[in-house]
Amino acid sequence: MTDSTTTPDDPDARTASEGATADDSPVRRIECTVDWPPGHVACYLVDAEEPVLVDAGAPEDRGAEELREGLAEHGFEPADIEHVLVTHPHTDHDGQVTALIEAGDPTVYAPAAAVDRLERDPDELEAIVTENARVVGVPDSLRDYVVSQAVESLKRNARYCPPGEVDVRLAAGDAFEAGGVTFECIHCPGHQVDQFAFAATLGDAADPTTGERVLFSADAVIEPFRAAALHAGLDEGTFDSISASYRCYGGLREYAFDRVYPGHGPVFADYAGAIERSLESLDDLLDDVEATLADLGTAPAFEVANDRADIAEQPYVLFETIGACAELVERGRATDEIDDGVRLFSA
Ligand SMILES: [Zn+2]
Repeated sequence: MTDSTTTPDDPDARTASEGATADDSPVRRIECTVDWPPGHVACYLVDAEEPVLVDAGAPEDRGAEELREGLAEHGFEPADIEHVLVTHPHTDHDGQVTALIEAGDPTVYAPAAAVDRLERDPDELEAIVTENARVVGVPDSLRDYVVSQAVESLKRNARYCPPGEVDVRLAAGDAFEAGGVTFECIHCPGHQVDQFAFAATLGDAADPTTGERVLFSADAVIEPFRAAALHAGLDEGTFDSISASYRCYGGLREYAFDRVYPGHGPVFADYAGAIERSLESLDDLLDDVEATLADLGTAPAFEVANDRADIAEQPYVLFETIGACAELVERGRATDEIDDGVRLFSA
């Protein structure tokens, strides 16, 4: 399957001699440690005409060391990477972008909307988050905290994926060539508002009977769990986290892939099954939020979230609950009203 793309003097020709179909793949998985379940994040080296890295490992020294070791296991070093594809600007996915640029000056690709977001004026974000914190009912005592968290997160993300270092700004639906492989951009909002998954045909792309259709699914399609719907956080679109997630999985249903390379969890083949499980998980979330609302009667989204979990421990519950409340209204399973600038939901 790789014969047509492997030159005779290819130093990495061993990959073609490993024989079995799975080992024919030019994709090498590299894991970095993260301090939350499932304990790792994966990035993928595509051993193509020119080496491509899909996502760029976890941040800080530990991430740098693990990425270096992971590349070395496959006979590469950071300076060899010629193309870096960023799926979304979370630090466990773009942690070593700047290190890779320093090492070898690769071409960096990222979703255009994500780059635009990283370029924003922190004061503008602060104003929007302050207003949204009020609308979702964040108590006064916590408001400064959540606003500073959002602003710090923007600054941190812009440090790990500096907008000025992104060479190619990608739009949803774009197809682009990197290292001899054609990647297609699929917009996958929900986990992160601008997130892309990258689809590709590996092996003999000209021959659909031998080429393998793969998806670098980032945090959109994972087995055996669904990544949290953080979406926009408390930024514009805060109420859309769950509707966007449904839209994402609904759109992904239209595709078929032989193999999925996710940001977390194992590489897997049951793409359709993972989509259906993710949709079921969203349905369960709606049921749970609806039941909480029934207990509370009328409440702002923050109070609903606070009733479901310890938000200090599990901040993602806030963002999922905000979106779930809005989605329940959208589906006629709850009602809402604005009272003194706070959006109240009723069962
Ligand atoms: Zn992630």
